[in-house]
Amino acid sequence: MAGWWIAILAGPFAGSTISVLVRRMPRESPQLWGRSACEHCGHVLRPWEMVPLLSYAVQRGRCTRCGGRIAPAHLAAELAATAIAAVPVALGFEGVDLALACALGWVLLTLAWLDWDHFWLPDTLTLPLLLAGLAAAWWLAPWDITDRALGAIAGYAGLQALNRAYRALRHRDGLGAGDAKLLAATGAWLGWQALPGVLLAAALIGLGIAGVQRLRGTALTAATALPFGPALAAAFWALFLVQNWPD
Ligand SMILES: [Zn+2]
Repeated sequence: MAGWWIAILAGPFAGSTISVLVRRMPRESPQLWGRSACEHCGHVLRPWEMVPLLSYAVQRGRCTRCGGRIAPAHLAAELAATAIAAVPVALGFEGVDLALACALGWVLLTLAWLDWDHFWLPDTLTLPLLLAGLAAAWWLAPWDITDRALGAIAGYAGLQALNRAYRALRHRDGLGAGDAKLLAATGAWLGWQALPGVLLAAALIGLGIAGVQRLRGTALTAATALPFGPALAAAFWALFLVQNWPD
């Protein structure tokens, strides 16, 4: 029941799906699940052109009809999702824990990407993620269900309170309601006890991201909006791996 190779093989396909979601969700495109097509000439991809990684390599990143460039972000998503599967495999995760680590990592990658590009953490992802956390507790760790339900409430209430305090002090919004819902989902997966650690780790990751941006020449002032979602998503996933570390 190792299943590690299933996780690694599923990685590129998950990445391909994530890339499509990140591009189509913000436009509320009715074709969220429609066939993929070349964004230059509209050429509908044939099945073999949709095989992740391989098709990109064979086509050298170009459309077979018009020769237009396939967005490099697509390849990046496939590689990132494969890396997300490779980490728990390398740590020795197996079975249900491995499946949860991969699925959680892929959803969090989608959220982090959407927040990075659009400052947007859609309820259509954060709320099901919260419910999935409670369902996983009910199914796998019923003794934890109270701590995790409290975690969901505390995560939402805590971040809303912080945001209100920030607004009173600085007269503008620091964190969005989407961040509070993502922290609520974090509590539903990790329990209320994990929330201070998650917030601390997210703040450190956020500072790291800001530092890298500064080194790359982006001027940062107190008014620069930095999406907190990617940092929170990274901290959430890291602490999930620590909490479920295989014996
Ligand atoms: Zn084309």
